[in-house]
Amino acid sequence: MKNRPANIILPLIIFLCLSGLTVVLWQDYTEHDEEIMRRHTETTAEQIHMRLEDFIEERLSSLEVLADRWVERRPPDFSYTRYRQFAETYFKHYPGFQAINWVDTDGFIRWVYPEKQNYAAKDKNMHNHPETAVRESFARAEKDRTYVITPCITLCQGGIGFASYWPLVYDGKMQGYINGVFNISSVVKLRTGENIFDEFRLALYEGDRLIYQHGFDKELMASNRSVRATREIHFRGKTWRLELEPLRITAKNELAAYLGLENPTRLMFLFFGLMLSTGLSFLLYSFMHRMQMYQVARDQALYEVNERKRAEQEIQNLQLYNRRLIETNLDPLVTFDQKGIILDVNEGTIKATGRTREELIGTLFADYFTDPEKAHKGAMLVFESGEVRDYELVMKGDGSETIVSYNASVYKDQTGQVVGAFAAARNITDQRRLEQERQVFIKELSDKNEELETFVYSVSHDLKTPLVTIEGFIGAMREDFGNQISEDQEKYIKYMSDAALKMEALINDLLEFSRIGRMTEKKRKFSFAGIVKELLKTLQPQIQARGIEVDIQEDLPDIYAEKKRFIQVMENLLTNAVKYIGKENPCPRIDIGVQDRNGQNVFFVRDNGIGIEEIYFEKIFQVFQRLPSAKKAGEGTGIGLAIVKRIIEHHGGSVWVTSKPGEGSTFFFTIKHQQF
Ligand code: ADP
Repeated sequence: MKNRPANIILPLIIFLCLSGLTVVLWQDYTEHDEEIMRRHTETTAEQIHMRLEDFIEERLSSLEVLADRWVERRPPDFSYTRYRQFAETYFKHYPGFQAINWVDTDGFIRWVYPEKQNYAAKDKNMHNHPETAVRESFARAEKDRTYVITPCITLCQGGIGFASYWPLVYDGKMQGYINGVFNISSVVKLRTGENIFDEFRLALYEGDRLIYQHGFDKELMASNRSVRATREIHFRGKTWRLELEPLRITAKNELAAYLGLENPTRLMFLFFGLMLSTGLSFLLYSFMHRMQMYQVARDQALYEVNERKRAEQEIQNLQLYNRRLIETNLDPLVTFDQKGIILDVNEGTIKATGRTREELIGTLFADYFTDPEKAHKGAMLVFESGEVRDYELVMKGDGSETIVSYNASVYKDQTGQVVGAFAAARNITDQRRLEQERQVFIKELSDKNEELETFVYSVSHDLKTPLVTIEGFIGAMREDFGNQISEDQEKYIKYMSDAALKMEALINDLLEFSRIGRMTEKKRKFSFAGIVKELLKTLQPQIQARGIEVDIQEDLPDIYAEKKRFIQVMENLLTNAVKYIGKENPCPRIDIGVQDRNGQNVFFVRDNGIGIEEIYFEKIFQVFQRLPSAKKAGEGTGIGLAIVKRIIEHHGGSVWVTSKPGEGSTFFFTIKHQQF
């Protein structure tokens, strides 16, 4: 069964959807967050802007008021005490000043308040101030007798700030200057409060110059932030630029900022969103995987159950089939164990023994035979040699006896262990009876044959006696009445004499024929070619007379036979070949050889003589059968081939002919191989 791969598509889709949703929500959240932050920054920037603008304006206005009040006094009082009173009061009620100084008409800072923090500025001459902008501003105040505000400078008290100079003109005469100094850091801290720096970073520019910053570094100030509020602070002709940015945007690069690495909540949101997506997808995957495993296991189990059912069904069918096969068999079939105890039987056994199945099972196999010892031996032999073939026993039936031939073999269990033997009996009672009858019949037949042959022999023998008498008297007649015998008489006497001679030849042949099988000699091995050559020598005169070409195959095998009889066979065949070669044959030829047919030697004598019609192929091997064409060819008794057939068959072989009239004949024969 195929193992299906876990379905990863659905969990993957779920993961992608959830992750996508998380990212969308995260982005939305980020944008929303950013929007809030932007608004908050804008509002705060506006607040700071207003506060700073109002504050500086207010402080400058207070200085203006101070300068006015100073000069408005009648009688005038430009004493240090009065200055001190003013400075103390202003310092107290208008916090935010770095210093409130009095500068004399020569440009020297004479009085400073508070003294401790501003001691460094005392007695400094404005005309010699290191900052050009300050010197120029002061010169303008001197010249125009109007207030001036310096650009932002590095204060000698430390930090960055700016100063304002308010000329004190009394009765058209210059009395000095009120000098208000502001430290931007102090101003910012005072007006914005420290808390703001927990949330924002802030920068103030005057023109391009950074005059205050908190929380920025240079690099970031240059960057173009998405959340940054900018405001312009205007007071008394001065313009400052305020830049405010939420503190959380302090990441070292944009990507980190974009990803919200600075905002733990956002980051957590994204992280948990993705974790949740992964977790849910994984849970789904595990669930599906488990489901799939369960399905596979269930399918496997179902498959196995079905397979088992099928196997059981098959076993049942097989058992039924085997049982039917066993029962269909009419022969007795039994199985027995290694002690010879019957384990199972078929109907055939029940019928043959006349016992029930229950009676038979568990009893000894050998007990149902006339010779239990032989039966038990046979049963044990099966286990010794694995099988027993054609083991003959006589089975005891219900009042009858059956001759059976047992074929038995062991059968094994799955481990290859022999568990029993299967024995099938064949009833051979009829076969045995028929065999006995056949034997008796054969015996009778051979007795009769022998009798007949003896009779033929004695008849032939007996017939020779009167023939000799006839021939003797014909001779005597010729001797005694030779001169008195007329020509016609002589002709008749010759007919009689020829007939007697022919009769004698026939009787001799018959005698010879009857001797075959009765009078045997010992078989031995000899050269086939040698015999052929010897015979051809005898036939040489006829062969020469007819100009016959004879060809003997080389390497002819040796023969194992009764030599004299075999010579007779070859003599008859060769004589016939020469005899029936045909008078008009232009190139008479005889071939002697052997062929191999399926491993058997088939000898042949072939001539290209007168040939034989197919209808006579059998007949010519019968006694005294001559064909009409033979009579023209020459002398013969018609027994030669009958003798050949009888000798060949006596040697366990067969003889046959193939021929076509006018084309020649081939006589084939086989003889049994030598048996050692
Ligand atoms: P026969 O004494 O007549 O030769 P055989 O028994 O030897 O008697 O032969 C029987 C007959 O078979 C012959 O009369 C002849 O007609 C035929 N025959 C035998 N051999 C040949 C042959 N080689 N060619 C043609 N006919 C043959």
